Amino acid sequence: MIIMKKIVIVGAGAGGGLVASKIRSKTSRDDVEITVIDSLGRTDFQPSYPMVSIGLKKPSEIGVSFENFSKTGIKPLKANVTSVDGDERVVRTDHGDIPYDDLVLSPGAKVENEKLPDSENVGHFWDMEHSIELKQKLMGLREGKIVIGVTSSIYKCPPVPWEMAMLLDNMYRNKGIREKIEIKVVHWAKKPMDMFGPVISDPVSKWMDEAKIEGNYGFEFNEIDPVKKKITSKKGDEEDYDLAILAPPHSVPDFVKNSENLLSQRGWLDASAQNFRPRKYEDIYGLGDAIAPTIGLGMAGVFAHFQADSVSSLVLNDIEGIYPPFAYNKVGLCASDMGSTGWISYCDFSAKIRDNSVPFPDCGVLGSGPLFKLAHSIYEKYFLGAVYGGWIR
Ligand SMILES: Cc1cc2nc3c(=O)[nH]c(=O)nc-3n(C[C@H](O)[C@H](O)[C@H](O)COP(=O)(O)OP(=O)(O)OC[C@H]3O[C@@H](n4cnc5c(N)ncnc54)[C@H](O)[C@@H]3O)c2cc1C
Repeated sequence: MIIMKKIVIVGAGAGGGLVASKIRSKTSRDDVEITVIDSLGRTDFQPSYPMVSIGLKKPSEIGVSFENFSKTGIKPLKANVTSVDGDERVVRTDHGDIPYDDLVLSPGAKVENEKLPDSENVGHFWDMEHSIELKQKLMGLREGKIVIGVTSSIYKCPPVPWEMAMLLDNMYRNKGIREKIEIKVVHWAKKPMDMFGPVISDPVSKWMDEAKIEGNYGFEFNEIDPVKKKITSKKGDEEDYDLAILAPPHSVPDFVKNSENLLSQRGWLDASAQNFRPRKYEDIYGLGDAIAPTIGLGMAGVFAHFQADSVSSLVLNDIEGIYPPFAYNKVGLCASDMGSTGWISYCDFSAKIRDNSVPFPDCGVLGSGPLFKLAHSIYEKYFLGAVYGGWIR
């Protein structure tokens, strides 16, 4: 008699969505039941949030409804996960308890919107709702100073403040008012994209200079005064603004924070970069942004993508016992559209994951120029198709 295995996946984003789709494509609906639980009920291609803010994309173009999972025999459950009982093998949600044989956790990072002031002069593009709001603020600005910054060392997509600066430069140039708008990146890095080393930082610094995008570097955010329209660094440096675009602090989702068995020493989801399991459990796997600080990576969908290859192979091996585990490809690939130009760069993080004191990942640039803008759109289409079991929209 065949006993149906129950695979439960928390998070329908880059990591969870791809794991669900990969496992479904290799298993039959009669043998394996796959449930994806997500509180949002939608998957967005988050790298296109800046495009929503500058009016180049509509929200419906970059998000897919969760219900599409059912077309490939994956059960979507819109619910908030409140805890995981790893001993009883049960996920507890506000819509009831869901038992599992194998559990995959890809809940991403929580963007703490409440930690930024609710002000017409402050906004961000780190979620869909705020990207839409930011569009109104950007379109309404005819002159003044835009400051783009981050409030914490960890945030989704480390290169994105500079990419957004380039997109804004291009947008206001096309509107014919660029000379009336000052654009400044205010960041803890010592120079543009310094965290990726000179191979990346040098060309980006040149682009910033050419586009007259100012920088205030080594600026560690401390506080914002929405009345005086000023942000202050930990050292007491001040930067005034007419519009501040700031990444809110990011944190680990509550159900992980509240579980000592799931929490790593670095305060994020516990997982090893070898087998993606937390210390305590053999049938739980973690991936994506929630484990990024634990294994010493930045938060990027491309990491979740390659981790999904490994995690799905490990789960398939648990189910079938014969599936060869897929080694984790520790390379990050960045396909950027920066308005007038684009580029494809990559970094191999293998040495950095082994030894966090290694200063930079091993990076290179595959190419840049207007043609490379296409790569962003191509990956967007691939991603939204692939998450839902192969091109189903
Ligand atoms: C503006 C922006 C630009 C970006 N650009 C790039 C880029 O160019 N390249 C790149 O590689 N990456 C980029 N990223 C990062 C990329 O989008 C993330 O790294 C990726 O989405 C992480 O995947 P994930 O599965 O870990 O989390 P997510 O994709 O965020 O998915 C997590 C899911 O879990 C759900 N969830 C969370 N908590 C619960 C709960 N308690 N109960 C139920 N469901 C829950 C959420 O609703 C969400 O749908 C960008 C991100 C942003 C915001």
